[in-house]
Amino acid sequence: MGFKLGNVEGRSALVNENNYYDLETISNGKISADGLEAIKSEELLSDLYSKLCDFEPTGNINDVTLGAPISTSKNCFAVGLNYRNHAEESGMEIPAFPMIFTKHTSCIVGPFDNVEMRSDIVDYEAEMVVVIGKGGKDIASDKAWDHVAGITVGQDISDRSVQFHATPPQFNLGKSFDTFGPIGPLLVSPDELDDKENLKLTCSVNDELRQDDNTNDLIFDVPYLISYISEFITLNTGDLIFTGTPAGVGATQGKLLKDGDILSTSIEGIGTINNKMVRISDHSNSTFIPEFIKSKMPQDK
Ligand code: ZN
Repeated sequence: MGFKLGNVEGRSALVNENNYYDLETISNGKISADGLEAIKSEELLSDLYSKLCDFEPTGNINDVTLGAPISTSKNCFAVGLNYRNHAEESGMEIPAFPMIFTKHTSCIVGPFDNVEMRSDIVDYEAEMVVVIGKGGKDIASDKAWDHVAGITVGQDISDRSVQFHATPPQFNLGKSFDTFGPIGPLLVSPDELDDKENLKLTCSVNDELRQDDNTNDLIFDVPYLISYISEFITLNTGDLIFTGTPAGVGATQGKLLKDGDILSTSIEGIGTINNKMVRISDHSNSTFIPEFIKSKMPQDK
C-alpha cells in the first residue's frame, strides 16, 4: 500500500495518473492541506489512495501549478560524491565516509519554478531526494526504509564559485541560494515503485542528455545514509536527503548553465521536473572560478 502525493497550488492532493484529489476534502478534514502534516498520516494516506475510485477527482494536474510536494521541512541534507563516476570526473577519491552537507530548506521550490542564477558559474546536479516519514534517532539500516515517506526528483543547483571560494570549501551557501532546490513533481511512496533501489535517473539541458545513470550506483545507499545521519541528528518527518549526483555535471564538461536554459530532470516511476534558468543581478562574490572549472572554460572568458 502506498500513495502519490502532490502539492496543488499550496494544497496537498493524492494523484492518480492525471487526476488529483484534494486531501483535506477526501479525508473529511482528518488530514490538513499541508504536505508535511499529510505524511504524518501515512497509513491514512495509503488507505485513501487505495479507495480513490470512490471519489470524484478534484481536477487534472495538467490544468494546475504543482508546488514542491513538501515545502516546510525542518532539515535538508545532501551528499557529495555519492556516485563513483562523479567522484572520478571530479578528480576526487572514492570517499570512505559519506560527505554530508546541508542545503538551507529555504532554497526548496516547486518542480516547474524558475531557478535564479546570480553568476555564470552555476551548475546542475540531478538527484534522487528521500523524504523522511516517521522520524527517529539511531535508525538501524535494516529498518531505514520504514522511515521513508517517499522519493521525489530534485536538483542540487550549485553556484560553483561560492561553493569553492572559501578555504577549505564550505558547500552550504553555494548550494542554498534562493530557488536552488527544485523538487517534485510528486512524492511517491516506496511501495509504489517496482524496485525502489534501482531507478533510472536522467538530466537534460535544452533536450541534450547530460546525466544518465541509475540509483543502484549510489556508493552510500539510502539505508546507509539514514542510519549514518541519524547517529548525529534526530530525523524529523519531512526532512529531505538529496542523495548525490552521478557523472555529467556541467563543470566537468565546460557546460555551465546559461540564462534561458531549460533543465529537465527525471526519475523512473516518479516523473520529471522542468526548470528554466534565469540570470539575475551580479553577485559580488562570484568572481572566483575553481581551477578544475577554469581549465574547461573557453580561454576568452
Ligand atoms: Zn549534489
